[in-house]
Amino acid sequence: MAKSKKLTTSAGAPVSNNQKSLTAGNRGPVLMQDYKLLEKLAHQNRERIPERVVHANGWGAMGTFTVTNDISKYTRAKVFSEVGKQTEILSRFSTVAGEAGAADTERDVRGFSLKFYTEEGNWDMVGNNTPVFFIRDGYKFPDFIHTQKRHPKTNLRSNEAMWDFWSLTPESLHQVTILMSDRGIPTAPMFMNGYGSHTYSFWNNDGERFWVKFHFKTQQGHQHYTNAEAATVIGETREKYQEELYGAIEKGEFPKWKLMVQIMPETDAEKTPYNPFDLTRVWPHGDYPLLEVGILELNKNPENYFQYVENAAYSPSNIVPGIGFSPDKVLQARIFSYADAHRYRLGTHYEALPANAAKTEVNHYHKDGAMRFFSNDFGNPDAYYEPNTKNGPVEDPSVEEPPMKIDGDITRYEDQDQLGDYKQPGDLFRLFNDEQKQRLFNNIAAAMQGVSLEIIEKQLAHFDKADPAYGAGVRKALNL
Ligand code: NDP
Repeated sequence: MAKSKKLTTSAGAPVSNNQKSLTAGNRGPVLMQDYKLLEKLAHQNRERIPERVVHANGWGAMGTFTVTNDISKYTRAKVFSEVGKQTEILSRFSTVAGEAGAADTERDVRGFSLKFYTEEGNWDMVGNNTPVFFIRDGYKFPDFIHTQKRHPKTNLRSNEAMWDFWSLTPESLHQVTILMSDRGIPTAPMFMNGYGSHTYSFWNNDGERFWVKFHFKTQQGHQHYTNAEAATVIGETREKYQEELYGAIEKGEFPKWKLMVQIMPETDAEKTPYNPFDLTRVWPHGDYPLLEVGILELNKNPENYFQYVENAAYSPSNIVPGIGFSPDKVLQARIFSYADAHRYRLGTHYEALPANAAKTEVNHYHKDGAMRFFSNDFGNPDAYYEPNTKNGPVEDPSVEEPPMKIDGDITRYEDQDQLGDYKQPGDLFRLFNDEQKQRLFNNIAAAMQGVSLEIIEKQLAHFDKADPAYGAGVRKALNL
């Protein structure tokens, strides 16, 4: 057997005894000078960091992304530069509402986040398992999340609050329909799609811009629990996703997703009947077909969950040359709020933690601050400001995005497009077969238990507008 390593304090001094306190006499009090005991207790008090306000409960693994189709005519991003190119990634999946340790198989949207460690810095794809979201404006995000979290007095989740908000926010109907459909409870992260959800942009070496949607299609097939099955699973284990994802990778059964993109020429954005930057809308496949890009494979469990899954800090602000943003209002809000959340939760220099550190050279002039544990990055202590004559890092104008033309007055616009909030939820409803529709009705009725009739009526009017059969089915399931 290998010889055990010597136990030390966090300062590296050997520890003589890790079982018994230092006391004055056989029954006497403990001495303050037993600093090893103090250090041990103090560390235990600091083993938690603030959990994420949303997406606290998560599971993740490392893997590789391999390009299978050349899309370099749309983007100069090096991650997509040639067929066969491989990039390391770190994934994290999550539920939205539950706290850390909540049961994994609750009905909820799932987060689907990927960090691509590209040769031009980290690109974060911070998506969900749904192509749309409940709201189309960042103003609504904190209020929406409050309805998903605990009531301030009862400290319980509130169906009343959820449906009150949704019924007053018709733009939520598309996402509500997905959430209440079969896909509302995937059996494990491997059995669901991932979507960038927002519209992003690509730009190529000729300065052309395209709008883009990212879709990660599960190669394991879709698998979902009904409410009853999920209740049984939760009775047996609350950790189903961790068991499934970790277990599959340990067994060498590596989950895969096919990355597909929808590409829209820049000027088409003015012509579509739907606002292509509205997070509550999809681009119909018939209009913008899916184009294969590559394969994502998860093939390694992190050695330390906290270091690589809890410390993983994804932000839509992390883009690389060739990938850009869009006017999507929720995306614009997330560009601020995600990086801000990590600075609060992990600290100023969170990007230097192992999970987040780019695999390429990092050269910046940000200075000190809590946990500045890396030295002057580029090895020249005289170049600590910019511009300088000390050979410090300099900007590279060649990676400037092509200019984007904006036309319009600054004001707070009504969110209207020709499509309205009911067409696409109705289209989805009409895709379901009779059994799927019946499960949708039952799931909604179950989620409406205890909700005021006035709120239910308001919501039923939205279902009616999406499709009369939708409203009628829910009414029947509610015995109304
Ligand atoms: P298509 O018939 O071309 O595609 C239907 C899409 O619906 C497929 O992507 C399918 O995903 C997905 N889907 C099937 N069941 C569900 C469900 N319970 N929850 C979420 N998605 C589901 O349709 P269109 O592109 O013309 O769009 C019709 C409707 O399909 C839309 O209004 C939208 O609600 C939904 N949809 C559209 C997407 C898009 O990007 N166009 C993406 C996802 C949903 P899969 O291929 O994995 O089976």
